[in-house]
Amino acid sequence: MSNVFAPSHCPRLVVKIGSALLVDTDGNARREWMRTVAGDMAERILAGQQVMIVSSGAIALGARKLSLKNGGRENLCDAQSAAAVGQIALSALWAELLAEKGLVAAQMLVTLDALEDRRRYLNFTATLDSLLAKGAIPVINENDSLATDEIRFGDNDRLAARIGQAAGADGLILLSDVDGLYDKDPARHDTARIIREVREMDETILAMADDTSSIGTGTSGVGTGGMSSKLLAAKISDMAGMNMAIISGLHEHPLRRAQEGHGTIFHAQRGENRHKGWIGGLQKIRGKLHIDEGAAAAIVEGSSLLPAGIVKIEGPFSRGDAVDIIDVNGSAIARGLAEYDALDSARIIGRHSSEIEAILGYSPRSAVVHRDRMVIL
Ligand code: GLU
Repeated sequence: MSNVFAPSHCPRLVVKIGSALLVDTDGNARREWMRTVAGDMAERILAGQQVMIVSSGAIALGARKLSLKNGGRENLCDAQSAAAVGQIALSALWAELLAEKGLVAAQMLVTLDALEDRRRYLNFTATLDSLLAKGAIPVINENDSLATDEIRFGDNDRLAARIGQAAGADGLILLSDVDGLYDKDPARHDTARIIREVREMDETILAMADDTSSIGTGTSGVGTGGMSSKLLAAKISDMAGMNMAIISGLHEHPLRRAQEGHGTIFHAQRGENRHKGWIGGLQKIRGKLHIDEGAAAAIVEGSSLLPAGIVKIEGPFSRGDAVDIIDVNGSAIARGLAEYDALDSARIIGRHSSEIEAILGYSPRSAVVHRDRMVIL
């Protein structure tokens, strides 16, 4: 565990910090603890590592200032107002604590939409690259004040994985009020034990997330991401070739502890390029392409998806939108960008690629999803 997040193995690191660690049960920022995190950051920068923080806590902090009930999460309107008030305080606090260590903080607020749109996403990554190269510490959060339920991540676990993928980071540490993934809910089972290393996100691991889904949502009720969102983050990380760890932040200097073998580490098994990593992390899936067994075998081997292997289309989607590729068992086995919109795709399914031009009157691509724009899930 220790090594994979060391500067030598991990030139770029994302550290995500959950609301429950940043804000106490009275709604006050845990300033002294944050100061120890800023100290950890300074150590890592000195050791030659580029670090960025994905910081939650805006809603929880703002809720107190506005005297909102339920931690500001009673409804979307409250959450958006709380975030607006809390974010300004949160950023000021990080800027102050990092400055004490001689570091410059840079606030970036993102929306799901911005990361799904290729052009804005590239803009974001360019700014991030430039900030890191200049030695600044990006402090990132979702722009909760503008994001509505349909278009928001909602939890910062997936957001952090997406940021890490966008940044081409090598590691993601989720600091949480749980110390890792348990095989059962430790609150309900005496025999529950922590899983130290995960090398494959198989059914057994996913089942553990179901059983433990309520833990890690913040003991003080101020966070949102439970174990399920952490496992979704692990999936995005894996596709981006980024190791991920869940580590307890209930101690001072939590990043020092991360070096000592605590928590659960998810070892990335894949190293897709940045473009494929982006596709794998897309959250808005516009359509489904149901395929036959032959096509499924071919795409797993690395082929493009040709119209001949598609049996059914679900849409609507436009050319360039993300679609999931579904096998005969109903499982999504791959995700990619559609080369044709849903209507045109529906007209050519089951047909040979050489017939596309006669059917549609144009034939820019022989595949409906090209292998360069597809990831196996
Ligand atoms: N973006 C939210 C906030 O700053 C936190 C989301 C989460 O709990 O993961 O309050």
